[in-house]
Amino acid sequence: MTLLEVIDLWIAYDRINAVRGVSFAVGEGEIVTLIGANGAGKSTILRAISGLLPAARGSITFAGEDLLSLPAHLRTQRGIAHVPEGRGIFGNLTVLENLRLAAYGRSQAQFRQDLREVYRLFPRLAERRQQWGNTLSGGEQQMLAVGRALMSRGRLLLLDEPSMGLAPMLVREIFKVIQRLNRQGATILLVEQNANLALEVAHRAYILENGEIFLSGPSRELQHHPRVQEAYLGG
Ligand code: ATP
Repeated sequence: MTLLEVIDLWIAYDRINAVRGVSFAVGEGEIVTLIGANGAGKSTILRAISGLLPAARGSITFAGEDLLSLPAHLRTQRGIAHVPEGRGIFGNLTVLENLRLAAYGRSQAQFRQDLREVYRLFPRLAERRQQWGNTLSGGEQQMLAVGRALMSRGRLLLLDEPSMGLAPMLVREIFKVIQRLNRQGATILLVEQNANLALEVAHRAYILENGEIFLSGPSRELQHHPRVQEAYLGG
């Protein structure tokens, strides 16, 4: 079943078209990645899906429902969880408070259950639960950002550059968690500059250049595509 469908999406900053006629779909249970160089329009697309930016033209549907007519908070309620580039955690709240806030509106029992799961995935967060967000390392902040998306019970996780600024070992760890979440049922739309890793974990990929999709297909096929190897895989 198609969970997210984007058709002929156009997004502009002032008069500059950052995204031009982009169409793609994410099926329930899939990991789909949007790959592209700096400035290709990847983050802009995620912002339009979560409602942080308006679309100039086109349509976005989620589980059959038109998203563009919904304000951002209702999209969150529908199950869209955005982990933005730069992580978007609260530096002056503790780890536990950050997680509690993300679970706002849910019962205490559900909160405890999900908290156990987040701490199981990220033992480091359990160790640091009373520490302020802004005292965490970059990797720990990234874990907290993903943890917050889990606490919100996202049905679709929008992950923007989860590898950014992280040491290679932590990057591996984060990508393992992404795969584990997916096995547990989460659908994931992953934006990455690290094309190698993204193609390893994703089922399908779309390659963006200058705001347009120029290539798409199963990750395994794209890994061997000459244009992709040349431009993104250093091959
Ligand atoms: P990055 O990895 O750098 O985030 P990206 O593929 O996510 O790259 P976007 O951030 O979506 O790219 O940017 C797409 C285009 O829109 C770029 O040309 C960028 O300069 C422009 N852009 C992004 N944000 C703004 C903004 N707030 N105001 C004006 N132009 C913007």
